[in-house]
This record gives sequence, structure tokens and C-alpha cells, in this order.
Amino acid sequence: MADGKKSLGWGLIGASNIARQYVIPAINNQPDSHVVAVMSSSAERAENYARENGIPNAYSSVDALLADPGVDVVYISTTNEKHKAETLAAAAAGKHVLCEKPLALTLADAREMVAVCANAGVVMGTNHHLRNAITHRTIRQLIADGAIGKPLAVRVFHAVDLPPFLQTWRINNPAAGAGVILDITVHDTDTLRFILDDEVSAVSAVSACHGMGEGNVEDTVMGIMEFEKGTLAQFHDAFTIAHTNTGLEVHGTEGSLFAEDVLTQQPIGSIRIRRKDKTEAVVLEPHYDLYTRAIGKFNAAVFGNGEPAATAEDGIRSLAVALAVAEAAETGKRVIVKYQ
Ligand code: NDP
Repeated sequence: MADGKKSLGWGLIGASNIARQYVIPAINNQPDSHVVAVMSSSAERAENYARENGIPNAYSSVDALLADPGVDVVYISTTNEKHKAETLAAAAAGKHVLCEKPLALTLADAREMVAVCANAGVVMGTNHHLRNAITHRTIRQLIADGAIGKPLAVRVFHAVDLPPFLQTWRINNPAAGAGVILDITVHDTDTLRFILDDEVSAVSAVSACHGMGEGNVEDTVMGIMEFEKGTLAQFHDAFTIAHTNTGLEVHGTEGSLFAEDVLTQQPIGSIRIRRKDKTEAVVLEPHYDLYTRAIGKFNAAVFGNGEPAATAEDGIRSLAVALAVAEAAETGKRVIVKYQ
């Protein structure tokens, strides 16, 4: 920071559940940041939210929040169709931007957001939390070290029971980016890109409405991602499965990794490695809060040290794959992923 500040003031654009549950504590847990303001489209909601969450300032417009000189960084967690305009406004005001996934509803919009932030000289990141987990960081390291040889196949189990308090725009408002693909498949994509250190080249998918999604909003998707180095990944993402846990398997030429309870916001999960018929538990470093690590990395990037845990480009890539999955599900055709 050119002005020599030691602690970053964060402004929240969106009085959301994710901010309340995870991101506000993660910001306030840092030695070098604190939440100074929140903005909601309703003045009453902004004031109530500020009071309930110990936030000093409440605003009912993005411009008012951006005019607050105490705000150095914004965290954008409104519904998805609003992310673009809010990011452009924040960049124009010289604020750094941590934006929720999906960055936008189209690739062109996401590319514009990233370019505008780069031109404004502000840091932009994407809040893909999973790559911060010790489980996924360990899996990435094991694969890079050759512990399972060449990864051939992956299975992703990311079917959850969407809690009633989140059964709002996600299940009934396509204009806000509803549906399981923009909600969960983006996270699968980021996690697989991270652990495999590889990019998705093509996808196939089938989606369904199993009783929670309203109208044409999909609450279920199964599909296949083809990676550039040859790995095939199958995924099952859903809002409607109440009796299972999440997980990930990576099967390589020399061994297989089985990761259980790892596609979650909680700092939990375990990993086993199997070679032939012998299975061993992988010893993990202690779990820590995923969001706290993400905010710590973002603050460091603002102070000139390294990059956000998930960069703006990472957000573009996960969106590109999710849009390709949506197209594949709609057309019934295999889709080559377009990143430009
Ligand atoms: P919420 O539904 O909690 O909030 C989204 C918007 O809905 C808010 O900005 C708010 O508008 C409005 N809103 C919220 N509660 C109410 C209410 N009681 N009455 C009226 N309006 C309300 O969204 P989420 O927190 O679930 O998701 C927000 C964003 O974060 C999305 O982009 C989502 O994809 C992402 N997300 C990311 C996660 C991650 O781990 N990375 C996890 C969960 C979500 P206003 O601000 O104008 O008041």
C-alpha cells in the first residue's frame, strides 16, 4: 500500500449469508484487516446487519460505500448478476476486489472485470475457498511428487442437501445465476485445476431438476471433464442429496487417493492412499479455517506479497468450464471449453 497503511479496511458489498458465516470472521481474524462497512440495497437491512455483526458503517448504495475513505478493499457477495457492475465501480474508486464465484454470468463480462481491475492497478481475487484446505493442498503436493504416478481418472462427489435458508435465488432466479452448475461445478473446476495442475479442455454433462430447482433451474448435474494432460474427471453436483458426504478420488498409474469430507466449507476431511491392496491414512498437518487463509493471502497480495489464493484468472477459468458444462447439458453435446 502506497499510503503506508498497516491495516486494511474491508467494505462488504452485499449483506449476505456467506459474509456473515465465514468471511467477516476471517477478515477480523487477521492482524492486518478489519471490516469497516457493509452495503445492502435496503438501508434497514444494512443497519441491522451492521449492528448484528459489529460493523461500524452501513450504507444503502455501492457509491456511498466506495466513497468511504476507510474502505481499501471490497468483498463482493451479492447475487451473481451484480458482481460485474460492482467490480467495475470498485476498481474505478481504486479499491481492491475480492469477488465471489461465479465472477459473472458470461465470460466476456468476467474478462472485462479482470481487465478493468488490472488497468486500475487494484488486486482482484476470486473467493474459491476449497484450494485453501490442507486436504487439497496435500493432494496437490502428493500428485506433484508422483505419489500416485500419472493421474488417469478422478471422481468428484459434491452432492449436498441445500439448507432451507439458502433455498432462495439459487433455486428460482436464472437472472441471478441460479442453479447447481454456477454454484457448485465452479468449485469442482477450481479444485481439480488446483490439485491436478491442469486445465479442462472439454466437457460433457446431463442436468436434471429433482424437485428443488424451480422452472428450468437445474438442481443436479453429472458430467465429465477432459483435462489437457489426459485425465478424465467425472462429477456429481446436487442440492438434493441428504444422506451422503462429499469426497474426491484420484486414480493414478501407481496408486489411488481417497479424500473424504473434503468438499465443504468446514476445515475437516481425511485422505487415504491405496497401492495394490494396501491402504494407508495420509498424515495431514492440522486443519485451519479455509476462509481465514484466503483473506490472509489476499491481504498479503494487497501489501505486495504474492497473489490471492485464487486469482481473478482462476475465477475466469472456473466460470468458463461451468458455462461449457451448462451448454453441454442443454445441447446434449460435448463442448470444447472456450477461455477467451
Ligand atoms: P445470500 O442469499 O445470503 O445474499 C445474496 C443477496 O441476497 C444479498 O446481497 C442481499 O442483498 C440479499 N439477501 C440476503 N438475505 C436477504 C433477506 N433476508 N432478505 C432480502 N434480501 C436478502 O447469498 P449467499 O451468501 O448464499 O451467496 C452470495 C454470493 O456468494 C454468491 O455469489 C454465491 O455464489 C457466493 N457464495 C460463495 C461461497 C464460497 O464458499 N465461496 C459460499 C456461498 C455463497 P442486499 O445485500 O442488497 O441486502
